[in-house]
Amino acid sequence: MDAKVRPLGLDELDIRNPFLDVLPGDDGPNQVRQTPGACYSRVAPRRAKSPTLVAASNEMLEALELDPAVAKTPAFAEVFAGNRLLDGMDPHAACYGGHQFGHWAGQLGDGRAINLGEVATRAGDHYMLQLKGAGQTPYSRMADGLAVLRSSVREFLCSEAMHHLGIPTTRALSLVVTGEGVVRDMFYDGHPRTEPGAVVCRVAPSFLRFGNFEIHAARGETEILRALADYAIVTEFPELGDPRESADPAAIYADWFEEICRRTADLVVDWMRVGFVHGVMNTDNLSILGLTIDYGPYGWLEDYDPQWTPNTTDASGRRYAYGNQPRIAMWNLSQLANAIHPLIGRTEPLESALEGYATRFNERFLSAMAAKLGLAELAEGDQALIEETQRLLGAIETDMTLFYRHLADLDSESDPAEVLAPAFYREDQMTDDYLARLRRWVDDYRARLARDGRDHASRHAAMNRVNPKFVMRNYLAQLAIDDAEQGDYAAVNTLLDVMRRPYDEQPGRETWAARRPEWARHRAGCSMLSCSS
Ligand code: AMP
Ligand code: MG
Repeated sequence: MDAKVRPLGLDELDIRNPFLDVLPGDDGPNQVRQTPGACYSRVAPRRAKSPTLVAASNEMLEALELDPAVAKTPAFAEVFAGNRLLDGMDPHAACYGGHQFGHWAGQLGDGRAINLGEVATRAGDHYMLQLKGAGQTPYSRMADGLAVLRSSVREFLCSEAMHHLGIPTTRALSLVVTGEGVVRDMFYDGHPRTEPGAVVCRVAPSFLRFGNFEIHAARGETEILRALADYAIVTEFPELGDPRESADPAAIYADWFEEICRRTADLVVDWMRVGFVHGVMNTDNLSILGLTIDYGPYGWLEDYDPQWTPNTTDASGRRYAYGNQPRIAMWNLSQLANAIHPLIGRTEPLESALEGYATRFNERFLSAMAAKLGLAELAEGDQALIEETQRLLGAIETDMTLFYRHLADLDSESDPAEVLAPAFYREDQMTDDYLARLRRWVDDYRARLARDGRDHASRHAAMNRVNPKFVMRNYLAQLAIDDAEQGDYAAVNTLLDVMRRPYDEQPGRETWAARRPEWARHRAGCSMLSCSS
């Protein structure tokens, strides 16, 4: 933050509601219902019994120009549990629809999220503050609008970790426990338990999803669809121009879709690069800003397996498995294209943008994988080496993150089996056949490096800038959750701090970089997750 900018107190935030000012809403009762004609419903957050702060993000406090000391005050926990509204806050839940697991699901909406209002900073940025887990809204369908500590810790930590990895994401300002229990049947198998309730304050310039546009298209509300698109473009994509004042608004809508395709391609490249599996890539969980949004049953590839999905709900279809993410993002973009088609009236620009997605993804994916290998730039024949690397990773249980991180240490002399040892899960898989294959791959790799002619130190540094040492592994989050459920928040805060510098060595913190231990192989929360949260 600019040193000259005086940090603010909570009551000094400039909070606005342009979304509510411009778009049609609904002031009906807070009960589950359809809300045709509305982009949102006004709704008050539920009171939490005794809010206690678990953790806050210093970087997010700074971005909001808040004094970090504010987070330690009781008022902060009250506000970000939903117990007290600040001046200018006008809480509301957004209406959206979505395709879930490939099928149109109709109206969904913010069922457990309540937007408080948008902070306008002196730096000229805007940030919507959104409470997740602050009670029912008209979109809560069969559920209670609450969130448990387990899933809130996961969202809070992972969204901040993602930001520090340099990957576009919604952020998290705070994590508060409510002092009340919430009953959840984690695997929907008749074993409910009472868990601590929690509220995360998420932050993003906008939480608009593909589904916000789909719902109005599905309802035939073309004028609302247009108003929403105009709002999104003017506030989040101002460089594209203002469709309301353009002689050719269709061209602006087409450019906008192209930009969403570009951002989505870049986002998925980033996910693939670090081994992130979103887990529920329904169209209501894709951001039009190209942000990672809705951290539910996500996971990180440990043992490299393109067919792996962390989400037990998806175990049979594996629709959202690691290796399917690029294709599913494209499918989701096609749904968005269908939704905004009435604004453009022609399919050609939409189809060409979708083709652009595929081209951009493929190019950038190969460049990202080349960078992971420490190649100065992508050259003829590198695709074959990249594909062979992926087959090698899949040949035996190999930790993707540790493989690339330790690969940086390989020089012309070292023994690859030794250098890469921390990445291998099972001693019994280190057969002579595998070792011979590894050596053949290393020979090819070294030959390719020799063509680059980069010295070891600069290749090492370049690789460590793109291959994180620390990622928010499920078992690490679970360790922090186990403690947090006992009222001990130290591990949550340590992890938050470790994940602030994922590409740094951070000597003394090796345990937070270790591959998944055996106890976590089949433990709920570590290897299996559900949408229950
Ligand atoms: P998700 O799987 O998180 O994308 O959620 C899908 C839909 O279910 C969204 O409309 C959510 O708002 C809603 N939902 C999920 N969990 C809850 C909950 N505990 N209470 C109310 N609505 C929920
Ligand atoms: Mg969602």
